[in-house]
Amino acid sequence: MGLVDQLQRICGAEFVITHEHQLRTYESDGLLQYAAMPKAAVLPGSAEEVHRVVKACHEAGVPTVARGAGSGLSGGALPHEDGVLIVLSRLRRILDVDLENQRVVVEPGVTNLEVGAAVGPSHYYPPDPSSQVVCSIGGNVAENSGGAHCFKYGFTTNYVTGLEVVLPDGDVVQLGGGKMVDAPGYDLLGAFVGSEGTLGVATKITLRVIPAPPAWRTLVAFYEHMDEAGRTVSAIVSAGLIPGAMEIMDKLSIEAAEAATRAGYPTDAGAALVVELDGPESECEAAFDEIVDICRQNDATGIRIAEDEAERALIWKARKAAFAAMGRLAPNYYVQDSVIPRTQLPQVLTRIEELAREYDVRVANVFHAGDGNLHPLVLYDAATPGEAERAEECAGEIVKACVDLGGSITGEHGVGVDKKRYMPSMFDEPDLAAFQMLRCAFDPAGLANPGKLMPTPRLCGEVPGPYRQHPIEAAGLAERF
Ligand SMILES: Cc1cc2nc3c(=O)[nH]c(=O)nc-3n(C[C@H](O)[C@H](O)[C@H](O)COP(=O)(O)OP(=O)(O)OC[C@H]3O[C@@H](n4cnc5c(N)ncnc54)[C@H](O)[C@@H]3O)c2cc1C
Repeated sequence: MGLVDQLQRICGAEFVITHEHQLRTYESDGLLQYAAMPKAAVLPGSAEEVHRVVKACHEAGVPTVARGAGSGLSGGALPHEDGVLIVLSRLRRILDVDLENQRVVVEPGVTNLEVGAAVGPSHYYPPDPSSQVVCSIGGNVAENSGGAHCFKYGFTTNYVTGLEVVLPDGDVVQLGGGKMVDAPGYDLLGAFVGSEGTLGVATKITLRVIPAPPAWRTLVAFYEHMDEAGRTVSAIVSAGLIPGAMEIMDKLSIEAAEAATRAGYPTDAGAALVVELDGPESECEAAFDEIVDICRQNDATGIRIAEDEAERALIWKARKAAFAAMGRLAPNYYVQDSVIPRTQLPQVLTRIEELAREYDVRVANVFHAGDGNLHPLVLYDAATPGEAERAEECAGEIVKACVDLGGSITGEHGVGVDKKRYMPSMFDEPDLAAFQMLRCAFDPAGLANPGKLMPTPRLCGEVPGPYRQHPIEAAGLAERF
């Protein structure tokens, strides 16, 4: 029996897609610059079906790629042309809400926002990607996703306490302590979170949730220049204050977000800084007054304070819509995701301006300022010859500038297919070899999301020797990523 027949027997014929037109739905994730068609896309309806699908693919020697909502921005869920795409969107059950133990157990296709809704209003799940309406918890785990509130609360990895995982050979294992905080043995849970689908498929996820903060105070301060907003962030941190979130938007981002949301941001402002405090009411009030003073001392031209929940939601609406709103400024954009030590913010923003001039493109900046996690959006028009290439090169130079300033090639969007070429700029060959050994321990056959994350895939068991340049590389005819 062929593999497709087997998949149909496991999941039902209507959940195995092989027709080219239907497969197009899955050809890209959120990074549309990459597209590929799998041989088949399969939508299992249970963890048991995922296990049988992966086992069948493994026995047939066929690569698999897991896909949640497909909102990833590094090509992580890009299909393998000879492989099977395992779409987890039907695994949407919330299995257990255990607020006494501050835990919720969910299937991987549940969205980030649904987790919050399931535990609220008394409890709160802090990691909040701007894509939270659509992105799946399985994708969040695979990417170790962050969001505006991670400055204070930490990333997905700080909230996953247990996982059920289908390994690349189809075996099912439990990683972590389930509802307990920790478990004896190697921290395989820590290794899995952020592994971008290369170590297996998560089919059940246990998350820690926390009591919802009793009070919130939110403001947005406006400035003439970005460096004033950056200075405010540094001054807030230096004062020992820890807001839940600190987000900066530049002039272009404000323009786009305002056009999309009508949130009332002044479009002549050079920068906007959203600051949100949370915690006990009295603590919030005292710290909030101090933050307002710090904004003024750093030349804020205006400060808008949310007086009620509706105004708070509006302030956030503009920030969270910033990516999607870029379509109002240019037909295409390339989202970069890099990190820098927060103190390097002025240097990197100046460098981004220089690069934008050099490559003759516009770059909008919107970022998690507390974490130093930048999201430069390089705008272009794919219909104009050469512009897409210039945008991509400019985005690449921005990554390099961040690494040169002591930062990282990715903050929260992952390496995927898009950034694997930059891995050697952060890691030496022995570091990469250690990653590869871990990967091979989970997936000796190399069938789980191959071609992603690692720059120089080699077969498991192959001994990494010193790097030797191939003659065609030396001749400048090929480049190794
Ligand atoms: C407008 C917009 C805003 C965004 N804002 C943020 C943000 O603020 N913060 C942030 O961190 N990200 C952000 N993202 C990126 C993206 O939403 C996150 O990376 C998200 O976690 C991806 O989830 P997904 O379900 O869409 O995963 P997919 O894109 O489907 O997959 C992502 C990766 O996870 C793997 N994967 C998916 N499910 C599983 C599973 N069950 N088991 C194992 N591997 C799996 C895939 O193989 C792939 O490698 C944004 C994206 C967009 C489009």
